[in-house]
Amino acid sequence: MLQVKNLHASINDKEILKGINLEIKAGEVHAIMGPNGSGKSTLSAVIAGKEEYEVTEGSVLLNNEDLEDFAPEERAHKGIFLSFQYPIEIPGVTVTNFIKTAINSTRKAKGLEDLPAKEMLKLIREKADLLEIDRKFLSRSLNEGFSGGEKKRNEIFQMAMLEPKLAILDETDSGLDIDALKVVANGVNKLKSKDNAVLVITHYQRLLDYIVPDFVHVLHNGKIVKSGGKELALELEEKGYDWLK
Ligand code: ADP
Ligand code: MG
Ligand code: MG
Repeated sequence: MLQVKNLHASINDKEILKGINLEIKAGEVHAIMGPNGSGKSTLSAVIAGKEEYEVTEGSVLLNNEDLEDFAPEERAHKGIFLSFQYPIEIPGVTVTNFIKTAINSTRKAKGLEDLPAKEMLKLIREKADLLEIDRKFLSRSLNEGFSGGEKKRNEIFQMAMLEPKLAILDETDSGLDIDALKVVANGVNKLKSKDNAVLVITHYQRLLDYIVPDFVHVLHNGKIVKSGGKELALELEEKGYDWLK
Protein backbone atom coordinates (compact mmCIF):
# COMPACT_ATOMS: atom_id res chain seq x y z
CA MET A 1 0.00 0.00 0.00
CA LEU A 2 2.60 2.56 1.07
CA GLN A 3 6.17 2.52 -0.10
CA VAL A 4 8.68 5.05 1.13
CA LYS A 5 11.90 4.73 -0.82
CA ASN A 6 15.18 6.38 0.14
CA LEU A 7 13.28 9.47 1.25
CA HIS A 8 15.30 12.58 1.94
CA ALA A 9 13.49 15.75 2.96
CA SER A 10 14.52 19.21 4.10
CA ILE A 11 12.97 22.23 5.68
CA ASN A 12 14.59 25.64 5.25
CA ASP A 13 17.53 23.87 3.57
CA LYS A 14 18.14 21.74 6.65
CA GLU A 15 18.02 18.02 5.89
CA ILE A 16 15.71 16.27 8.37
CA LEU A 17 14.96 12.92 6.73
CA LYS A 18 18.11 11.19 5.57
CA GLY A 19 17.06 8.16 3.59
CA ILE A 20 13.92 6.51 4.94
CA ASN A 21 12.78 3.14 3.61
CA LEU A 22 9.44 1.82 4.76
CA GLU A 23 6.86 -0.52 3.31
CA ILE A 24 3.38 -0.88 4.73
CA LYS A 25 0.96 -3.46 3.41
CA ALA A 26 -2.82 -3.45 3.67
CA GLY A 27 -3.97 -4.91 6.98
CA GLU A 28 -0.82 -3.92 8.87
CA VAL A 29 -0.30 -1.62 11.82
CA HIS A 30 3.14 -0.02 12.02
CA ALA A 31 4.50 2.07 14.85
CA ILE A 32 7.27 4.61 14.54
CA MET A 33 9.01 5.51 17.75
CA GLY A 34 12.02 7.61 18.49
CA PRO A 35 13.30 10.45 20.62
CA ASN A 36 12.05 13.99 20.32
CA GLY A 37 13.48 15.72 17.25
CA SER A 38 14.27 12.50 15.38
CA GLY A 39 11.99 13.42 12.46
CA LYS A 40 8.77 11.53 13.25
CA SER A 41 6.43 14.44 12.57
CA THR A 42 8.44 15.42 9.52
CA LEU A 43 7.94 11.95 8.08
CA SER A 44 4.18 12.08 8.62
CA ALA A 45 4.00 15.59 7.15
CA VAL A 46 5.99 14.58 4.07
CA ILE A 47 3.78 11.53 3.47
CA ALA A 48 0.73 13.79 3.79
CA GLY A 49 2.31 16.23 1.32
CA LYS A 50 2.74 19.34 3.44
CA GLU A 51 4.30 21.96 1.26
CA GLU A 52 6.81 23.42 3.73
CA TYR A 53 8.96 20.33 3.26
CA GLU A 54 11.13 19.74 0.24
CA VAL A 55 11.71 16.21 -0.91
CA THR A 56 15.28 16.24 -2.20
CA GLU A 57 15.62 12.54 -3.02
CA GLY A 58 13.54 9.38 -3.05
CA SER A 59 9.80 8.88 -3.27
CA VAL A 60 6.51 8.08 -1.57
CA LEU A 61 4.12 5.74 -3.37
CA LEU A 62 0.54 4.86 -2.52
CA ASN A 63 -0.67 1.72 -4.29
CA ASN A 64 2.22 2.08 -6.74
CA GLU A 65 1.38 5.68 -7.60
CA ASP A 66 4.07 8.27 -6.96
CA LEU A 67 2.54 11.01 -4.81
CA GLU A 68 5.13 13.64 -5.67
CA ASP A 69 2.84 15.86 -7.72
CA PHE A 70 -0.17 15.71 -5.40
CA ALA A 71 -1.21 18.37 -2.90
CA PRO A 72 -2.28 17.44 0.63
CA GLU A 73 -6.01 17.65 -0.27
CA GLU A 74 -5.50 15.34 -3.24
CA ARG A 75 -3.58 12.88 -1.08
CA ALA A 76 -6.43 12.98 1.43
CA HIS A 77 -8.88 12.20 -1.37
CA LYS A 78 -6.69 9.26 -2.37
CA GLY A 79 -7.08 7.90 1.14
CA ILE A 80 -4.30 9.31 3.32
CA PHE A 81 -5.54 10.57 6.66
CA LEU A 82 -3.27 12.53 8.99
CA SER A 83 -4.55 13.25 12.47
CA PHE A 84 -4.27 16.85 13.53
CA GLN A 85 -1.61 17.52 16.12
CA TYR A 86 -2.99 20.92 16.98
CA PRO A 87 -6.70 20.89 16.26
CA ILE A 88 -8.30 24.23 15.53
CA GLU A 89 -11.40 25.42 17.33
CA ILE A 90 -14.30 26.39 15.12
CA PRO A 91 -17.04 27.94 17.24
CA GLY A 92 -20.49 27.40 15.76
CA VAL A 93 -19.37 24.51 13.54
CA THR A 94 -20.39 21.24 15.06
CA VAL A 95 -18.53 17.95 14.92
CA THR A 96 -21.31 16.68 12.64
CA ASN A 97 -21.28 19.61 10.25
CA PHE A 98 -17.54 19.53 9.97
CA ILE A 99 -17.51 15.87 8.99
CA LYS A 100 -20.44 16.30 6.56
CA THR A 101 -18.45 18.94 4.72
CA ALA A 102 -15.33 16.76 4.69
CA ILE A 103 -17.26 13.74 3.36
CA ASN A 104 -19.00 15.71 0.63
CA SER A 105 -15.85 17.48 -0.51
CA THR A 106 -14.12 14.10 -0.81
CA ARG A 107 -17.07 12.83 -2.84
CA LYS A 108 -17.00 15.91 -5.03
CA ALA A 109 -13.30 15.36 -5.76
CA LYS A 110 -14.24 11.89 -6.98
CA GLY A 111 -17.04 13.27 -9.17
CA LEU A 112 -19.79 12.03 -6.84
CA GLU A 113 -22.92 13.86 -5.69
CA ASP A 114 -23.39 14.85 -2.04
CA LEU A 115 -24.36 11.95 0.16
CA PRO A 116 -28.14 12.21 0.71
CA ALA A 117 -28.90 13.62 4.17
CA LYS A 118 -30.61 10.46 5.31
CA GLU A 119 -27.68 8.26 4.39
CA MET A 120 -25.26 10.72 5.95
CA LEU A 121 -27.17 10.59 9.21
CA LYS A 122 -27.24 6.81 9.12
CA LEU A 123 -23.48 6.68 8.52
CA ILE A 124 -22.79 9.16 11.30
CA ARG A 125 -24.89 7.18 13.77
CA GLU A 126 -23.36 3.89 12.73
CA LYS A 127 -19.80 5.16 13.26
CA ALA A 128 -20.66 6.97 16.50
CA ASP A 129 -22.21 3.79 17.87
CA LEU A 130 -19.23 1.70 16.80
CA LEU A 131 -16.91 4.05 18.67
CA GLU A 132 -19.30 4.47 21.61
CA ILE A 133 -19.53 8.20 21.00
CA ASP A 134 -22.39 9.94 22.73
CA ARG A 135 -24.86 11.59 20.32
CA LYS A 136 -24.58 14.83 22.32
CA PHE A 137 -20.89 14.98 21.48
CA LEU A 138 -21.77 15.22 17.79
CA SER A 139 -23.52 18.56 18.25
CA ARG A 140 -20.66 20.19 20.14
CA SER A 141 -18.69 23.02 18.51
CA LEU A 142 -15.54 21.66 16.95
CA ASN A 143 -12.75 21.41 19.51
CA GLU A 144 -14.24 24.20 21.62
CA GLY A 145 -13.44 23.35 25.22
CA PHE A 146 -12.60 19.78 24.25
CA SER A 147 -10.54 17.77 26.70
CA GLY A 148 -7.56 15.80 25.40
CA GLY A 149 -9.72 12.69 25.27
CA GLU A 150 -12.51 14.50 23.39
CA LYS A 151 -10.05 15.83 20.81
CA LYS A 152 -8.87 12.30 20.21
CA ARG A 153 -12.47 11.05 20.04
CA ASN A 154 -13.19 13.62 17.35
CA GLU A 155 -10.10 12.62 15.35
CA ILE A 156 -10.97 8.95 15.55
CA PHE A 157 -14.54 9.75 14.54
CA GLN A 158 -13.24 11.64 11.50
CA MET A 159 -11.06 8.68 10.65
CA ALA A 160 -14.03 6.31 10.98
CA MET A 161 -16.16 8.47 8.69
CA LEU A 162 -13.52 9.07 6.02
CA GLU A 163 -12.43 5.40 5.90
CA PRO A 164 -8.87 6.14 4.81
CA LYS A 165 -6.62 3.57 3.18
CA LEU A 166 -3.73 4.76 5.32
CA ALA A 167 -4.31 6.51 8.63
CA ILE A 168 -1.32 8.28 10.16
CA LEU A 169 -1.73 9.13 13.80
CA ASP A 170 1.00 11.46 14.95
CA GLU A 171 0.81 11.79 18.69
CA THR A 172 1.82 15.01 20.34
CA ASP A 173 4.82 15.00 22.62
CA SER A 174 2.83 16.71 25.33
CA GLY A 175 0.75 14.87 27.88
CA LEU A 176 -1.93 12.57 26.64
CA ASP A 177 -3.75 11.12 29.59
CA ILE A 178 -4.56 7.44 29.80
CA ASP A 179 -8.19 8.03 28.74
CA ALA A 180 -7.07 9.76 25.57
CA LEU A 181 -4.63 6.95 24.83
CA LYS A 182 -7.43 4.42 25.25
CA VAL A 183 -9.74 6.38 22.93
CA VAL A 184 -7.08 6.30 20.23
CA ALA A 185 -6.27 2.65 20.80
CA ASN A 186 -9.88 1.43 20.90
CA GLY A 187 -10.64 3.43 17.76
CA VAL A 188 -7.68 2.04 15.85
CA ASN A 189 -8.42 -1.50 16.97
CA LYS A 190 -12.04 -1.20 15.85
CA LEU A 191 -11.29 0.48 12.54
CA LYS A 192 -8.40 -1.61 11.33
CA SER A 193 -9.24 -4.10 8.62
CA LYS A 194 -7.54 -6.18 5.97
CA ASP A 195 -8.06 -3.33 3.50
CA ASN A 196 -6.51 -0.43 5.41
CA ALA A 197 -3.28 0.30 7.18
CA VAL A 198 -2.34 2.38 10.19
CA LEU A 199 0.89 4.19 10.98
CA VAL A 200 1.08 5.21 14.61
CA ILE A 201 3.78 7.70 15.47
CA THR A 202 4.47 8.01 19.13
CA HIS A 203 7.11 8.21 21.74
CA TYR A 204 4.77 6.68 24.25
CA GLN A 205 5.45 3.03 24.74
CA ARG A 206 2.21 3.01 26.73
CA LEU A 207 0.07 3.55 23.63
CA LEU A 208 1.44 0.29 22.27
CA ASP A 209 0.15 -1.57 25.30
CA TYR A 210 -3.29 -0.98 23.78
CA ILE A 211 -2.59 -0.93 20.06
CA VAL A 212 -0.62 -3.98 19.14
CA PRO A 213 1.55 -3.11 16.15
CA ASP A 214 2.70 -5.68 13.62
CA PHE A 215 5.95 -3.77 13.14
CA VAL A 216 7.87 -1.22 15.19
CA HIS A 217 10.49 1.09 13.69
CA VAL A 218 12.85 3.37 15.55
CA LEU A 219 13.69 6.68 13.99
CA HIS A 220 16.86 8.45 15.02
CA ASN A 221 18.39 11.48 13.34
CA GLY A 222 16.26 11.12 10.23
CA LYS A 223 16.90 7.42 9.67
CA ILE A 224 15.22 4.19 10.67
CA VAL A 225 17.90 2.61 12.83
CA LYS A 226 16.01 -0.49 13.89
CA SER A 227 12.86 -2.38 12.93
CA GLY A 228 11.22 -5.30 14.65
CA GLY A 229 7.99 -6.73 15.94
CA LYS A 230 5.93 -5.55 18.90
CA GLU A 231 8.59 -6.81 21.30
CA LEU A 232 10.86 -3.98 20.14
CA ALA A 233 8.52 -1.49 21.84
CA LEU A 234 8.96 -3.34 25.13
CA GLU A 235 12.70 -3.42 24.68
CA LEU A 236 12.69 0.35 24.13
CA GLU A 237 10.67 0.89 27.26
CA GLU A 238 13.22 -1.06 29.23
CA LYS A 239 16.41 0.25 27.63
CA GLY A 240 15.47 3.67 26.22
CA TYR A 241 16.89 4.86 22.91
CA ASP A 242 20.55 5.46 23.73
CA TRP A 243 21.72 1.93 22.83
CA LEU A 244 20.52 2.54 19.25
CA LYS A 245 22.37 5.77 18.62
P1 ADP B 1 9.82 14.58 16.15
O1 ADP B 1 8.41 14.57 15.66
O2 ADP B 1 10.49 13.24 16.05
O3 ADP B 1 9.95 15.16 17.51
P2 ADP B 1 10.26 16.61 14.11
O4 ADP B 1 9.97 15.96 12.80
O5 ADP B 1 9.20 17.47 14.69
O6 ADP B 1 10.69 15.49 15.17
O7 ADP B 1 11.58 17.47 13.99
C1 ADP B 1 12.78 16.92 13.44
C2 ADP B 1 13.84 17.99 13.36
O8 ADP B 1 13.43 18.98 12.43
C3 ADP B 1 14.09 18.72 14.66
O9 ADP B 1 15.49 18.91 14.78
C4 ADP B 1 13.39 20.03 14.47
O10 ADP B 1 14.02 21.06 15.19
C5 ADP B 1 13.51 20.26 12.98
N1 ADP B 1 12.41 21.07 12.44
C6 ADP B 1 11.09 20.74 12.44
N2 ADP B 1 10.35 21.73 11.90
C7 ADP B 1 11.23 22.69 11.53
C8 ADP B 1 11.12 23.99 10.92
N3 ADP B 1 9.92 24.47 10.57
N4 ADP B 1 12.25 24.69 10.71
C9 ADP B 1 13.46 24.20 11.05
N5 ADP B 1 13.65 23.01 11.63
C10 ADP B 1 12.57 22.27 11.88
MG1 MG C 1 8.76 16.67 18.50
MG1 MG D 1 6.59 15.00 16.55
